[in-house]
This record gives sequence, structure tokens and C-alpha cells, in this order.
Amino acid sequence: MIAPDDSTSRHFIREIIENDLKAGKHKTVVTRFPPEPNGYLHIGHAKSMCLNFGLAADFGGRCHLRFDDTNPETEETEYIEAIQRDIRWLGFDWGQHLYYASDYSERLYQYALELIKLGKAYVCTLSTEEFKDYRGVPTRPGKESPWRNRPITESLELFQRMREGKEAEGAYVLRAKIDMASPNMHLRDPVLYRINKTPHHRTGTTWPIYPMYDFAHCLSDSIEGITHSICTIEFEVHRPLYDWILDVLKVPCHPQQIEFARLNLSYTIMSKRLLQELVNSKVVAGWDDPRLPTLAGLRRRGYTPEAIREFCRRVGVTKVNSLSDVALLEHCLRDDLNKRSHRVMAVLNPLRVVLENYPDGREETFEALNNPEDPSAGARRVPFARVLFIERDDFQENPPPKFFRLAPGRTVRLRYAGFITCQRVIKDPATGAIKELHCSYQPPAPKGQAPEGSKVKATLHWVSATHALQAETRLYDRLFTKENPADEADFKACLNPASLQTVSAWIEPNVRGAQPGSRYQFERLGYFCVDPDSTDDKPVFNRTITLQDTWAKIQQAQRISTCKMSKS
Ligand code: ATP
Ligand code: MG
Repeated sequence: MIAPDDSTSRHFIREIIENDLKAGKHKTVVTRFPPEPNGYLHIGHAKSMCLNFGLAADFGGRCHLRFDDTNPETEETEYIEAIQRDIRWLGFDWGQHLYYASDYSERLYQYALELIKLGKAYVCTLSTEEFKDYRGVPTRPGKESPWRNRPITESLELFQRMREGKEAEGAYVLRAKIDMASPNMHLRDPVLYRINKTPHHRTGTTWPIYPMYDFAHCLSDSIEGITHSICTIEFEVHRPLYDWILDVLKVPCHPQQIEFARLNLSYTIMSKRLLQELVNSKVVAGWDDPRLPTLAGLRRRGYTPEAIREFCRRVGVTKVNSLSDVALLEHCLRDDLNKRSHRVMAVLNPLRVVLENYPDGREETFEALNNPEDPSAGARRVPFARVLFIERDDFQENPPPKFFRLAPGRTVRLRYAGFITCQRVIKDPATGAIKELHCSYQPPAPKGQAPEGSKVKATLHWVSATHALQAETRLYDRLFTKENPADEADFKACLNPASLQTVSAWIEPNVRGAQPGSRYQFERLGYFCVDPDSTDDKPVFNRTITLQDTWAKIQQAQRISTCKMSKS
């Protein structure tokens, strides 16, 4: 489950809860995660889940999963299922506490009737344009609706007609009677209910009226006995309304709304509406496209729940919105994959190497460590024969000064398998392109004996051409070329045209039969994960991430410059 508490996961919300418990305000902490089922969860939601489920677990309380399904137009059963799958995958569990705001429809309706009877709500007949005009702007008070003082009995009757489906969409709304002069626009007689005849994915056509978020949310929290209602910072201005509704009505309890800064991540977008647009316009292959920041996409890409939770922990919880560096997420991922991934050798861009002094038809195997970081991961045997593939980039006919890998006349080490020396470069007579290398081979020195090639400067990965498994690899880059695409006039204009590259690879045969989701490190190339599209005949691997850790580099550079500064 969640990482154990430590100094970096201390934050102001934890402090509020600790103080509430100390003061005896609550015995049990009850939080909720309230997704609207109008899209898939993304890594921003992961931050909210780590907070809500994490705090509940840390304090021995509980966290409810509540589908905030009060908008029949955008919600679908597919999302309900996907959301549950993704929460479980991230490592959280709501136990028995699965709720739907739509299950509270009758109770919310009764609360609305109660507000009308108290003279705190009225049915308003203004058109949408009039409504906007009456509302005013933040710097200027609004005007009271001519329907504001409609008799309570008339409002009750009209609201009942709305509920019975007797009124047309847009004809009326129910509004709270608060203060049209308030500098807080949310208090200027906000709409509580609207007429909407779109069938709902759960309740069908039972309800032709739907509560607005601000009305449904605080009351759902209260009905469920939530103690701390944690939400993102943009709801801070809604808090007076949250409190007003719960103060005016007789409710089971009055939860405390606490706001924190939402997670924004560089080089991606987090709005469900924009993500939906990418999915609908087929810019990406679906909600689980490995380039998306959705949990389904990250999972398919090969991310681990542990890496995502660690990232959320390190980002921390504050009140100030900011853009988190995707390099930190990638750093957390590499850290985790390094510990858990078995190494294998694979070649993405092959160059044929023929070992002139190795008999045709001979085969042997070499022992290779599965994970040098983890001795308990054991070893495997990798087949070796006369014809190998190495990476085309690992050879240069005219090597520049700092190129230490293979070149004519030069010797390099083959990982686990001895040494090769390049004797001849064979070219295509028509094009001049390099076709293959002819090399001499020297087996590894027996254990305990000083290796002859100990002066060689490079170690290459390789596969046996006859044994290697051919696979499709999908290499990903950032989906956007701009750091904050949501800030652009047209976010689709900064899509990275090279965000997906499909490349054939030759992989050592040990990966045969690996199931979707299996993770490997292809030595020197990155971490890869078997895609669900994979079949026995045609394995498909996603590159989760390359090996270069830009975050670690940034941190190191910062340490050096701080060090220099403190010396000077
Ligand atoms: P969008 O604006 O993209 O539709 P949303 O906030 O409306 O997203 P919900 O399904 O309502 O999405 O979100 C469920 C919970 O997750 C809410 O409590 C919300 O505050 C939280 N959440 C959503 N996005 C983020 C984010 N980027 N960072 C932290 N929490 C988030
Ligand atoms: Mg929302």
C-alpha cells in the first residue's frame, strides 16, 4: 500500500487532521475520492488518491469512492469500470464504501424542497442571457432576479413540476437566495438545479432535473459522514457556498473542505476535456495510449504503481499551483524499474557480425546475470553462434576521437561472451552501405585468469542472429513539444510528430512467451514492457523509458553549482 510516513510526506492537511483528532473533533477520519465518470483517471487524480486514500490509511480511517455522476450528458459506464480498475491498480481499496451521487437523488431533492420552504431558494424564470446580465461582474454587484421574491408556495409548485418532467429544459432553474451583491460570484444566488432530460447511465429517465456540483457535493459529503473533504485549489472560492448550504439545512454533519494545489506535469495535458479531444480525434489510439498521462496509458507504457505513488509523495502537498517536471516522474520510475527489471539483450538497429574463426553450425550459451542490482534474481543462459547482430551505432568506420566502440582493427568486449576484433567491413557494391562486419573472436578468459582484452574500452550488447526473436518495439517521446501545452492557443499545434516510432528489434530468446505487462531492461537501450497487442508470433514491446536520467543530472548539476557557490 502507501509508502510509510516520513518527513517528506508531512504537510498542512496532515497537520489539520492530527489536530482535529487531538482535539477530539473526530474519532475516525473519513475522506472520499469523488471522480466524475466522464473520462479516464490521470496522474493528477493519482495525487488526489494518494492524499485521500493515503491519509485515511495512515490514520486508521476510511476513504470512500464516490462517483460524482450528476451530469447525464458526459457520463458513461465504461468510465465507471475503468476508474475502479485504475484505483485498484494504483494500490488503493475502498472496501464496502462505493457510492454514487445519483443514489442520493431523492434525498438531495428533499433538501432542495427544504431550502425553498425556508425561503432560502426560489425557482427563477430568467433566460440564460438575462441570467448572465443580472449576475453582474466581480467588480460590480449583480441585480436581483424579479423572481427572487416569488411566493414560497409558487416556487414549491414549480419545482415539483420540474421534477415531474412537466417543464421544458431551460425554462426554469432553482437558485439559492444568498446575496446578489457578494464579491464572491458563487454566492450571487447560484443555480442549484437545472432541467435536463438526457437519460442517465444509471437512473435512466427517472430524473428530469439534476443538482449542480456545489449543491450535490457538500450534501453527499455530509450524507456519507465525511470528516475532511479534500479538493483542489480552484474550489476555494466555492467553500463559502459549501458551508452556506450545510449551515442552512439540517444535515447529519458538516465536513471541512480543505483545498490543495492540483498536480500539473510538464509536456502533457491533464484536463479530461482535452484528453477526450485527443482520443476522439484519434491523435492517440485510445484512453490507454502509452503517450497519455492517464493511469491506463502509464500502465500500458510500463509504469509501476510504486513509481507513481513515490512521485506523488515527492511532489508533496501545497497550496500553490505549479508545474511539476516530468523528469522527476521518470526518475522515480527508473529507480523502481532498476530494482525490479530483469536484464536482457536486444538490438534495435542491427548490423550483422560474422565471426570468421567461429565454426559454422556451432552453438554455445553464456551465463548472464538477470539483475546485477539484485543477486536473488539469478542468472540465465544466452545463446551464441557464428553470426551476431550488434547495434549499428556501435560501429564507426572512421571513428571520431572520443568514440571507443567498434571500428576497423579495434577490439571490443561482448557482454558476457568474450571479445571481437573487426577485421573487415563488407559493403554493398551498388550503394556503398555497410552490409556486415567480419570479426575475429576470442572467448572470455577462464575464471580467475586475467582477461587478455582487459584494455578494451567498450562493452557491446549483442544477440545471436539465428536465435533472436524478432519483435516490434514502440519507442515513445513526449506527446507535446511545449512545456505547458494547455497554455497554448491551440494545444494540438504543439503535438510532437515523432512521439511514436515503431522499430523492429531482435531480442534474445529468453523473452519468448512473456505475458503482457512483463517488464525488462534491454541492456543499454532502456526499460521495455510487453504490450497487450503482443502475440506469440509477433511480440510487441513498449519502451517505457530510456536509461538516461535527466533528473539525476539536473540534481547533480545543482549540487555542483551550489558547492562552487559556497566555496567562492
Ligand atoms: P477535469 O477538470 O479534467 O475534468 P476534474 O477535477 O473535474 O478534472 P474529477 O473527476 O472531478 O476531475 O476529479 C476527481 C478528484 O480528483 C477531485 O477531487 C479533483 O479535485 C481531483 N483532481 C483532478 N485533477 C487533479 C489534479 N490535476 N491534481 C490533483 N487532484 C486532481
Ligand atoms: Mg470535477
